Amino acid sequence: MSHKVNKMACGTFCACLTLSFASVFFGTALAQQSGAVINVYSARHYPTDEALYSDFTKLTGIQIKRVDADDAGILTRLKAEGSASPADVILLVDAARLWRAEIDGQFLPIQSKVLEQAIPENLRAKRSDSGGISWFGLSTRARVIVYDKMKFKKSDIDTYEKLADSQFKGKLCIRSGSHPYNLSLFGAMIEHLGPQQTEIWLKGLVNNMARNPVGGDTDQIKGVASGECAVAITNTYYLGRLMRSNNPAEKMLAEKVGVIFPNQASWGTHLNIAGGAVAKNSKNMENAIKFLEYLASASAQNHFANGNNEWPAAKGVSFDNPALKAMSGGHFKSEVLPVSAVGMNQIKVQQMLDRVGFR
Ligand code: FE
Repeated sequence: MSHKVNKMACGTFCACLTLSFASVFFGTALAQQSGAVINVYSARHYPTDEALYSDFTKLTGIQIKRVDADDAGILTRLKAEGSASPADVILLVDAARLWRAEIDGQFLPIQSKVLEQAIPENLRAKRSDSGGISWFGLSTRARVIVYDKMKFKKSDIDTYEKLADSQFKGKLCIRSGSHPYNLSLFGAMIEHLGPQQTEIWLKGLVNNMARNPVGGDTDQIKGVASGECAVAITNTYYLGRLMRSNNPAEKMLAEKVGVIFPNQASWGTHLNIAGGAVAKNSKNMENAIKFLEYLASASAQNHFANGNNEWPAAKGVSFDNPALKAMSGGHFKSEVLPVSAVGMNQIKVQQMLDRVGFR
């Protein structure tokens, strides 16, 4: 079991807890509630999450009714439903999206000692009206560089800044700049480099593109594996999925590319989160918070790691995922930025993308 996960989640080395959080909070403290239901609106697009929901019901007796949609679909639905909305919990992927929903007024403040103890401060967001905590990150993913091992070596491309070097002209594959994963990465770059340097860097990325941005992160990995490009950016769980695939062709894609956790000698690799909040019009706030607390428990956190190749967000959780270990060498340095600040930069980023012609 790796005990090193929290090095990247909270920026410090944390000892492994052997105590099962779930048994403390759900095995004994909670009576089974028959007939109770919560409505979860989820933008998590991972089929492996099914077990998460059924385990919660087993532990608590609380049924989950799930609405799956993308983030825009969830927000549109919440607005259309207004005060009649049955939503209790909202799960979104990426800090940029959570920030947008929060300023839209879609969340209730969360009061939970359990969540505050479990989730590091930089992975949660205070409300913009300063009335408590708006949402909690529940899992993390790193945004890494994949490269053609035949054409380049690791030291050629060990920082995000180097992606703009002229040696990569016509060699970079990247999904749309406006996708939340990139909005958050670029928002973090503003925190590290300042707006002026970030815009110059973004212009460099545009100059280096092998093709117009197309597809998702897996398509960028495929682009490197096929030789269409030599460097690309992806979230780690897409790579983990290929590495652990039962399909030999998918496994081969992962074997063809090298992976770099950028900026180990400076601020660390960019991390993003998937997180949860309580819906503004929830009529089951207590059970909604119980569900979020469950998602921060050791067993649920393990599920994020083993089921979807994400790193746990909660402190002191151990997990065993060979792909995550193999790609990172067991541990790596991650940036420690408040994820909420990164979300806030997205309007600035979008304006820069328009100016530099990054689609
Ligand atoms: Fe994704």
